Amino acid sequence: MLPPSLALVAGTLSAATLTTARSLLHDGTQQVLGDSEVADFKCDLPPVLNPSKDGLPPSSDIFSGEEALKLQVKRHSTIVKIPSISYDDNGEPGEDPRWDVFYKLHDTLASLYPSVHSRMERVTVNTFGLVYTVKGSDTSLKPLLLAAHQDVVPVADASTWKYPPFSAHFDGRWLWGRGASDDKNSLTGLFSALESLLSNPEWIPKRTIILALGFDEECSGRRGAGEIGKYLEELYGAGSVALILDEGGMGLELLDNDTLYALPAVMEKGHIDIWLELHVNGGHSSIPFPHTGIGIMAEIVNQIESNPWAPKLIKGSPIYNHFVCQARYSPDAAPNITKLINKGNLEALAEELVTIDRATQYRIQTSQAVDYFIGGVKINAMPESITIGVNHRIAPQDSILAVKANILKQIKPIVKKFGLTVSAFKGEELNPEFAFDEDLGDGVAEPMYEVDYNGTLILSSSQATLVAPVSPTSGPVWDVFSGTIQHSFAFDGGRVVPVGELMTGNTDTRHYINLSPNIYRWTPVRQGGNANAHTVDERVDMYVHLEIASFYYDLIRNFDASDVAPKAGAISEEEL
Ligand SMILES: [Zn+2]
Repeated sequence: MLPPSLALVAGTLSAATLTTARSLLHDGTQQVLGDSEVADFKCDLPPVLNPSKDGLPPSSDIFSGEEALKLQVKRHSTIVKIPSISYDDNGEPGEDPRWDVFYKLHDTLASLYPSVHSRMERVTVNTFGLVYTVKGSDTSLKPLLLAAHQDVVPVADASTWKYPPFSAHFDGRWLWGRGASDDKNSLTGLFSALESLLSNPEWIPKRTIILALGFDEECSGRRGAGEIGKYLEELYGAGSVALILDEGGMGLELLDNDTLYALPAVMEKGHIDIWLELHVNGGHSSIPFPHTGIGIMAEIVNQIESNPWAPKLIKGSPIYNHFVCQARYSPDAAPNITKLINKGNLEALAEELVTIDRATQYRIQTSQAVDYFIGGVKINAMPESITIGVNHRIAPQDSILAVKANILKQIKPIVKKFGLTVSAFKGEELNPEFAFDEDLGDGVAEPMYEVDYNGTLILSSSQATLVAPVSPTSGPVWDVFSGTIQHSFAFDGGRVVPVGELMTGNTDTRHYINLSPNIYRWTPVRQGGNANAHTVDERVDMYVHLEIASFYYDLIRNFDASDVAPKAGAISEEEL
């Protein structure tokens, strides 16, 4: 017999809550897409914005040609050679010596970019976070915030790399190395653009420029951008920044040879890791239970994986708008998608999108991945403690609450089958209301004799991050951003179409949400211009890297020439 009852320490989950969990359990603070009337998005483009009126040399003078390439290779390779790795288990700065390599990176930046270091105020936040500021002459304008991260992910096995990961080998086109793409590509590009501007003593920016560089983005950014975000909010206030540009997005994608789509992420999926820790009776393996704790957990894994989340395409969402643009400017690139967009058949379109590839599927679907399975200490002893960790990236239609509720729903039959006691998300915020009081008679496996697993399943979560609010893709700030992209990447016989997209991963901007509604995550890389971030043989095409630096140079100039985003109460020039 199995124990007749199961106790949920933190509470139980009602059947009514469960059946609706996936669509309705928003957590209040989350912006819900599709709730309000969505203006009919047509993908009209704002005007192209050429920064030439400021009289500065065009970006092509600075960031193209052999000399420019040589200089950029020297700068980038010097930076990539520094193994500024952040590890998941790093301790705090000042306590864990593994952070100390960042001192070397800071010294290197100072020697490579003398003008930035003489003209920008440099503040360190939490020892290794860097904030550089150059004050603008017009204090009525909100500052521009440019961001990148200093850290890189570890190298699993250097011997599998074509060139050693911190040798920064340049083969005439590609620069190879850990961080060459993620995110030192942006880091070098931003510093180089600022150095070009600030080395001209006559150039004094009108608008304040802030460069914010976290140092643990690859481990959630809590110590770096987390502290920088607080620092900047204290200094400038909430909503005080005109535009934030960080890494991310989907780069630049050319379709039909005549339309180049620029795809900055205007939204990030949410995130939550769910941990399930099972404690069960152990014992000698020669007289085992029908299931060891590993077997029980394997059933839970199987149950979770057998029940993926449903995809949903929401009208007015970034990915929908992207396909509206594609249907308008490249109708023949994917005729099926064009047809479904024109018909407004979102359900069929969602079905179509999930068949394309994982990257497309998981922009409209919450992902779940069991990434940890830890258990067992001895080949002749049944394990007494087993932990699994499930990573979730939450799509806009779902929520933290819905993920927690779903996990409880999925484990329910297994909890019943093995008579486990459950403690769910104790002491956490954003918990579903549980009412787990139904009849437990169904679906219970009947062993031939009494088995008492004496199991307790403890659920907890970490890294809960709400789905990010959507940044505007219209209005004055967007128009400057989009106009600059259209200018910087203009090409003969074609057009450039900037449109917002959604990111399945997170960036440091999760810590900057309060600073500005205009947050764009975009490393302006052409398709095929970088490769293998987070894995072996990471590299960047240095000609593509030059375009990135060139775009940053133009963006800073265009924002400097524009009076968009005045501070509250400030009178704009037009009004004077
Ligand atoms: Zn990154």
